[in-house]
Amino acid sequence: MSKIETPRPIRGTQDMLGEQALRFGHVVETFDRVRRLYGFGRVEVPVFEPTAVFARSLGETTDVVSKEMYSFEDRGGDSVTLRPEFTAGLCRAYLTEGWQQHIPLKIATHGPLFRYERPQKGRYRQFHQLDAEVIGSAEPQADVELLALADQLLRELGVSDGVTLTLNTLGDGETRDAWRAALVAHFEKHRGELSEDSIERLAKNPLRILDSKDPRDRPVADAAPEIDAYLSAEAGAFFEAVTKGLEAAGIAWTRNARLVRGLDYYRHTAFEFVTDRLGAQGTVLGGGRYDGLIETLGGPPTPAVGWAAGIERLAMLIDAPDPERIDVAVVPMGEAAQGVATSILADLRRAGIAADMAYKGNMKKRMQKADASGALWAVIIGDDEVAKGEVGLKHLSDQTQRWVRIDALVETLRV
Ligand code: ATP
Ligand code: MG
Repeated sequence: MSKIETPRPIRGTQDMLGEQALRFGHVVETFDRVRRLYGFGRVEVPVFEPTAVFARSLGETTDVVSKEMYSFEDRGGDSVTLRPEFTAGLCRAYLTEGWQQHIPLKIATHGPLFRYERPQKGRYRQFHQLDAEVIGSAEPQADVELLALADQLLRELGVSDGVTLTLNTLGDGETRDAWRAALVAHFEKHRGELSEDSIERLAKNPLRILDSKDPRDRPVADAAPEIDAYLSAEAGAFFEAVTKGLEAAGIAWTRNARLVRGLDYYRHTAFEFVTDRLGAQGTVLGGGRYDGLIETLGGPPTPAVGWAAGIERLAMLIDAPDPERIDVAVVPMGEAAQGVATSILADLRRAGIAADMAYKGNMKKRMQKADASGALWAVIIGDDEVAKGEVGLKHLSDQTQRWVRIDALVETLRV
């Protein structure tokens, strides 16, 4: 017989058990709690969309669209894409599901995203994000509220020390055009020092060179002109309103006048929360205002702002959560006790007490398992005691044991 080979997992995907899964869960639970404090409603959208949803909105020249998307033809011949980010799909839903009636729409979601990237620490091909968006508001207060939500989330996760909010404005259309011209002039002058990718970006989308991770591009990118000299009065006033709001809300930030976001549709506010604790993958949360995106999907002009955070990166930063423990280990001592044990186990769980019982094994093995489980109590069930309607209740850390009537067990353990 030929040996069957176990298929390997897809590169850049992760399987999580134990502490890693607990870290992941803690990040999601904290987000789900904090987003309610800010009145962001939970939404769910599909994991895949027609390819056009991403290709149009993200911009054909972005790395995500040109190199990283998982796109394929389905059996009906339609081109579909596994979502590489949340925003475009949420905006598609906003347009096709009549969500316009709820503006300003404050929504939050989380789940898996897919990008064909080179896997490394903090960078995967299936990864997960938390996402928060405000659709239909042009007010700087929306930007401030989203930043406050991000700031509080990081605080409640205990990672805000060593994570910095870096903020920039990308201005309005007028500002962007003037700044782009200045950037092109600068990059043309240093053309010979740029990577091949950036020479291509120079023709298609020069702002993206600022975002390059290629070390050859960094000196030229870091010396590029800043946006401030080109800010229109309106764009300057918007940025000032955002920074004033941050001050009022007590949120610390630093300016990075060369910060751009990887995706084409950003306007005005752009931000990243960065840390040096994760090596090269230092951005834990990023976002900004994308007033132009909904129009690229065929909708009416609609201002919007949002952010996404990498769950895996946050999960690496937090302290390890306490392991999950049960309260009670049930230990039957013989065949006859087994049935009573099953009934007691069901009663405990229905009463909201976390309880477990080994599927098999003698008394000694089961007691060892109970000790190892971290349970507070063992309920020991012997045939003689069951006849009297009693079980042994053992406190596993101080090893004391007493007898408790079966019908009083749940009440005894509840206190
Ligand atoms: P990076 O600069 O690290 O490639 P990005 O600008 O592509 O990030 P966004 O599209 O803004 O990232 O996504 C928001 C967040 O999602 C990032 O800040 C990061 O925490 C996380 N993220 C993005 N791509 C990945 C990935 N391949 N694996 C794990 N997390 C990721
Ligand atoms: Mg990226």
